[in-house]
Amino acid sequence: MENVRHELIQMIRLQAIYDQIAQAITEQETPPADVLELEEENRRRQRELEELEERIEEIEEELREVRRKEEESKLELEHFQKQRAAVTNEREFTAVINEIDFATRALEEAEARRKELEGAEEEIRAEIQTRKEARPEEEASHREVVERWAARQQELKELIHTLAEQARTIEEGLHPANRSRFLRLLKSKQGRAMAPAIEGSCSLCHFALRPHVQQRVRRAEEIITCEHCHRILYLPELGEDGDEG
Ligand SMILES: [Zn+2]
Repeated sequence: MENVRHELIQMIRLQAIYDQIAQAITEQETPPADVLELEEENRRRQRELEELEERIEEIEEELREVRRKEEESKLELEHFQKQRAAVTNEREFTAVINEIDFATRALEEAEARRKELEGAEEEIRAEIQTRKEARPEEEASHREVVERWAARQQELKELIHTLAEQARTIEEGLHPANRSRFLRLLKSKQGRAMAPAIEGSCSLCHFALRPHVQQRVRRAEEIITCEHCHRILYLPELGEDGDEG
């Protein structure tokens, strides 16, 4: 009889250890808000840099087009200036002057646009440079966040290892039938093999226990399982005076 009581107490402890392991695993898989923010910020910064690089490419494409037009206008202008020297009458002179005006305007427009684009490109390149240079400093302030999270991950890993060893020690001390029953339940019941009986019900599935089942759970002289969820039932007090060993 005392043996079953002892086994139950050990299983309650074992459950507490598995609860802690589950909690540690959840924490491992849940980066804190500052780490998530940092990751999001890095992604945003990268995206912004890429957008600036794309803008540079667009500008360069337009620049190639504008420089080509500028060259064409220059050639036209030279061509019409030569023609002007060879005109023989007023009509030809007027026509060639018109062509020269037209080519001059086209050249001026192309030049103005080229300068505008070159200025914009220079500004964006400076912006990219500034952002890239700002990174090491920013990363230093972020390194703390990253390192703290890495340290916490390591702590959790070690904690899980220690808890797993404690669990194994308790498991080795259990009667083999109880051990396999517990582990089977742990696996099939989402990590909860043990269910405290509270106010006459299984506290996990809320199934109302029949009075004689409650009685047997209270006596703790045998392993009683919930008729509905099949977890091993115990009174919370049993876990509390568990220090008797
Ligand atoms: Zn239940």
